[in-house]
Amino acid sequence: MEINGKTRICGLIGNPVEHTLSPVIHNTLAEKLSHNLVYVPFLVEGGHEEAGAAVNGAYALNVLGMNVTVPHKENVIPYLKETDSLAEKIGAVNTLVRIPGGYKGYNTDMTGLYRAMCSEGIVLKNADVLILGAGGAARAVAFLCAEQGAGQIYLLNRTLGKAELVAEEVSVKCGRSCVIPMQLSDYDKLPDRKYLAIQCTSVGLYPDTEDAVITEPEFYQKIHTGYDLIYRPSRTKFMRLVEEAGGEAYHGLKMLLYQGINAYELWNHVNVPEKTVTEIYERMKKELGIVEA
Ligand code: NAP
Repeated sequence: MEINGKTRICGLIGNPVEHTLSPVIHNTLAEKLSHNLVYVPFLVEGGHEEAGAAVNGAYALNVLGMNVTVPHKENVIPYLKETDSLAEKIGAVNTLVRIPGGYKGYNTDMTGLYRAMCSEGIVLKNADVLILGAGGAARAVAFLCAEQGAGQIYLLNRTLGKAELVAEEVSVKCGRSCVIPMQLSDYDKLPDRKYLAIQCTSVGLYPDTEDAVITEPEFYQKIHTGYDLIYRPSRTKFMRLVEEAGGEAYHGLKMLLYQGINAYELWNHVNVPEKTVTEIYERMKKELGIVEA
């Protein structure tokens, strides 16, 4: 692509940013869709103030859109012109869309996860869900499940206090008490039925590929579908345990794919064709060295 006077810029702010796959997603999309757009990572060191300076500076420089990653997903919120309602409930944004006078913040991590799940035929409505973890990702997943009308949601975490805080917050903001906090080790107290389990802890992430947050095979008898947010490795120990117990298991690369697709669609007011989505996914797998049947 030729960079010229009409080239638009999108980018990522975070710290660190050098291992991100987002430039692969967005620059390939721009190439495939013949958009005059480049996407670049911007390292933003510091906290609130520096994140605010980055948002204001990007607006002054006519930057079309930004992704936001750790540690700035909450830091940028006070500097936005508007925040989408789901992102506001979650309290974290990962996508900024240029509007008159500033940026509007969205959380395409969650809309992306939802789209990824739909693409695999996973249904959240009325589903009984186990969320493993109570960190930033688990918190957002709990909001997504509540908003999408999941049945009973159990939030299991090593530190019970954190699970209690998230459960309380989701119930208050979503207006129904649908999230039950539990200690991880109490999984044997779960009502006897089959669940969709969403693995939102960092346990099992490369290089600790032989770890899973719960290792007892009895736990996995309770799961019909396991969705691991981790995608490095592409077959985690959690996924292997789910499959060994007869369930279906998925990794988180499609979540990453669709958070990018959703952001690109918001910036450019387009619907990315399915064929292009598949091409981008293949490109991401190649970058990560993932070979799947
Ligand atoms: P986080 O805020 O740091 O939360 C980490 C969670 O893992 C906490 O619930 C923590 O429990 C739990 N945990 C950590 N070590 C543990 C251990 N040894 N035993 C039991 N529990 C343990 O992290 P996050 O931002 O939520 O991210 C979580 C995972 O999601 C990461 O692996 C990240 O890569 C993945 N993720 C993927 C995508 C994607 O696009 N696919 C997007 C976002 C995140 P305590 O509360 O007890 O400490």
